[in-house]
Amino acid sequence: MDKLKFYNTLTRRKEELSPLSPPVVTTYSCGPTVYNYAHIGNLRTYVFMDELRRTLKYAGYTTKSVMNITDVGHLTSDGDDGEDKMQTAAKKQNKSPEEIAAFYSAVFFKDLERLHILLPEIIAKATDNIDEMIDFVKVLCDKGYGYETDDGIYFDISKFDGYGKLSRCNIEDALAGARVAVNTQKRHPADFALWKKAEKNHIMQWQSPWGMGYPGWHIECSAMSKKFLGERFDIHTGGVDHIPIHHENEIAQSEALEGHKVVNLWMHGEFMLVDGGKMSKSLGNVYTIDDLIAKGFSPLAFRYFCLNTHYRNKLNFTFDGLSGAATAYNRLRGIISACKTAQKADADTAQKVQAQKDAVVAAVYDDLNFPLALGELWTMAKLPACRDIYDAAVELDSILALDLHLPQEQAEQQIPDEIKQLADKRFAARKAKDWATSDALRAELDALGYTVLDGKDGYEIKKK
Ligand code: AMP
Ligand code: ZN
Repeated sequence: MDKLKFYNTLTRRKEELSPLSPPVVTTYSCGPTVYNYAHIGNLRTYVFMDELRRTLKYAGYTTKSVMNITDVGHLTSDGDDGEDKMQTAAKKQNKSPEEIAAFYSAVFFKDLERLHILLPEIIAKATDNIDEMIDFVKVLCDKGYGYETDDGIYFDISKFDGYGKLSRCNIEDALAGARVAVNTQKRHPADFALWKKAEKNHIMQWQSPWGMGYPGWHIECSAMSKKFLGERFDIHTGGVDHIPIHHENEIAQSEALEGHKVVNLWMHGEFMLVDGGKMSKSLGNVYTIDDLIAKGFSPLAFRYFCLNTHYRNKLNFTFDGLSGAATAYNRLRGIISACKTAQKADADTAQKVQAQKDAVVAAVYDDLNFPLALGELWTMAKLPACRDIYDAAVELDSILALDLHLPQEQAEQQIPDEIKQLADKRFAARKAKDWATSDALRAELDALGYTVLDGKDGYEIKKK
């Protein structure tokens, strides 16, 4: 197993990875709340998770990774007030929370696949692990960390010595930062809910020692990481927004329960901005992968765009930026795939290819420096064309996952799903000799910028 270094948010230093039980590396990644489409910012965080897991595998480790799916709606604020996100979405769409969760989970997994994000070995749904959460809360209460109020069970942060150590804020800061208590029974405004008692009209609720209710958001991750990874594990990942509340609270719960450190290394992906600012529905700048595809960009061009900025730096998304990345990406694929049929390198070039390959690997082993890795790969691609470049790039593609073996045209031919569906409908109409429908659909596709070429047993669709 090769040596790897990662930046630990807890210690604010790069540290050499020293797994608890090599060759296995245990990781936990906070997954999505499945009440809506994942946006490109969320997906950047999962690309980061994938960079990590692929790098671990390349270095000879075996990953045992967990990602949770939050299908119990945590509340609209990181605190414990606001509406239940799943329930709100369910009401709006006139569906059950289960239907909402099933629909958006399926879209999420499709997005991961399109971005070549490998699925963690264990996908844990919150609703499948409610008993474990209740048990966790019970133990915290027995140990004196949890206390009951009229509306739930809360964690008393003043009882946990290290509260604030991840974000380096002390309890006084946490107290000052918390909003004036809505719930006056809380001992401290920054105490957080482990379990909420459900009002009658709350859709998702479970039997517990404290009556019908539902778990707090933070307890999900503590209970599921314990269940699947045990009382200590190697790496925990998430976005930087989780540092001050969600992960601080996870540390408090898990360490209070176990009586010792649980996570060795905390890694956080920085945020994606859009046009220099926050993504928000009101600004109309919340994009999904389908939005990018509809504008003619392939998911892998977006992956390349993500890899080109270090995960610990903010990444500003603009369509110009993505367009530049897409052009570079396609050129890279064009150069590398063309090397497939080239001659073997002479000794001097072969040595240079090897040096560049080593440089790519060294870059990712040093805290996932993918931008540097891509730079080194480009240096390789500019060497005299030879089969060695193709072979090296294809091997490195197990970390990069950019389909570097494919020629560039295929990357450009990404047809959005809705276009494919229209074309399928048109083909079915044509087969049924319903010429009027078939012509109308052809005109619709034409207006959307696509041409259909009919063959004997099917059709081909092209962007005009
Ligand atoms: P959520 O479903 O809101 O819990 O978010 C899922 C993941 O996306 C979490 O790990 C967040 O930290 C992350 N995330 C949310 N917004 C952004 C953003 N703008 N850029 C990068 N990551 C984000
Ligand atoms: Zn979490």
